[in-house]
Amino acid sequence: MANNRYHRRQRRNRSFVMLCGVLAALIVCCVIVGVVVHKKHASQPDPVAPALAQAASPEPEATQEIVEPTAEPEAAPALAAATEAVPAVEEPALAPEATREARADGADAMVAAPSAENAQKLANEVRPDVVEGFLPVCYGLKTDQKVVAITIDDCNQPENLKQILKIINSYGGKATIFPIGQNVEKCGEILKAAWESGFEIENHTWDHCGLYNVDDDMLAKEIWSQNAKVSQILGVDYQMHFLRPRGGDNRYDQRTHAYMRQMGYYGLAYWTQVGIHSSTDSLMQHLAPGNIFLYHTTDEDLAQLSELVPRLHEAGYTMVTLNELYGLPANETAPLTEKTQAPVLAPYTRMEQTLNPGDYLRDVYLVQEELTKRGFLTAEYNGYYGKVTKQAVMDFQKSAGLTADGICGPDTWKALFGEN
Ligand SMILES: [Zn+2]
Repeated sequence: MANNRYHRRQRRNRSFVMLCGVLAALIVCCVIVGVVVHKKHASQPDPVAPALAQAASPEPEATQEIVEPTAEPEAAPALAAATEAVPAVEEPALAPEATREARADGADAMVAAPSAENAQKLANEVRPDVVEGFLPVCYGLKTDQKVVAITIDDCNQPENLKQILKIINSYGGKATIFPIGQNVEKCGEILKAAWESGFEIENHTWDHCGLYNVDDDMLAKEIWSQNAKVSQILGVDYQMHFLRPRGGDNRYDQRTHAYMRQMGYYGLAYWTQVGIHSSTDSLMQHLAPGNIFLYHTTDEDLAQLSELVPRLHEAGYTMVTLNELYGLPANETAPLTEKTQAPVLAPYTRMEQTLNPGDYLRDVYLVQEELTKRGFLTAEYNGYYGKVTKQAVMDFQKSAGLTADGICGPDTWKALFGEN
């Protein structure tokens, strides 16, 4: 699906730590492949590489069309490493110390902010790295404990959701549910019962939009409204800890992270593996402590979880929530208050970033918007930095007397927007 390409592109992370992840992945793959080849025969097909590639496959759910098709990126070895190699965190996270003050101006001031200690603990344990201006992105956890986190998105099929939760619960497990705001009402009783049984509910936006191309008010509304609806269903003001935008990562949309921080969130919830992209056998074969599995509530998801959950249990694994996985407290609650409107996005300092072909980011969208205004881009655009956008950037760079390399660094940004 188009969305698969979107996610792979979005994850073409340029950071050093991800490079380390790639190298580590290659080493791990080489070792595994070596072992397999040694055990079997070199001429036999290698079952490991496809399985690892599958494990890295992204969420198959976005509907946003990519208007600039390019060749598929060469898979995501860095993400394939997710179950094996966890690069060290190089930079400390900024604890969301401003949260309490920010919320004091908003409607939900009574909800406690995450402690700096908890935020730091989380930041120290997630990968790939934590960058100033961004909250942690949670791909899993490196741990020796036999725990995994099952996450369930969207919740389009309430009956299947009910069955899935029942299965997990019957094996003493818990899970984290990411309902779309629009589905909260119809899943209300199920969600409330799940929460009362120790399951966790987190934010998947109100209507599953991509977030990168909405204005500030819509961004706030998408995040705040879903949380407000869950609060209403649960009968308490419920402080969410994790946001998972459609497609998950969204890491370089700093604006989203700024709003999450403002609203007291700990981090952005990604995943280690998309369940139904692999067979149950393959998932078990590559099972590792700290994995986060992504599921939805389709019949296929239900069928696989019916197989997987008992096998996880047999293998000695405990199914935990994201809070439990990261050692965070349960979502804070307070007496229910009337919700009026989303607090506006507070000012934040934009971190400079260089935009490269292959990126799929809000900042690319802004560049495309500006290039269109200036007449350099006439094609449709959607935040994906493809060949057409690269040419438009080069044309603009020439006209501005810059090196026409098609890479949108700080100089190009400044020439476009008059700021960094
Ligand atoms: Zn979704």
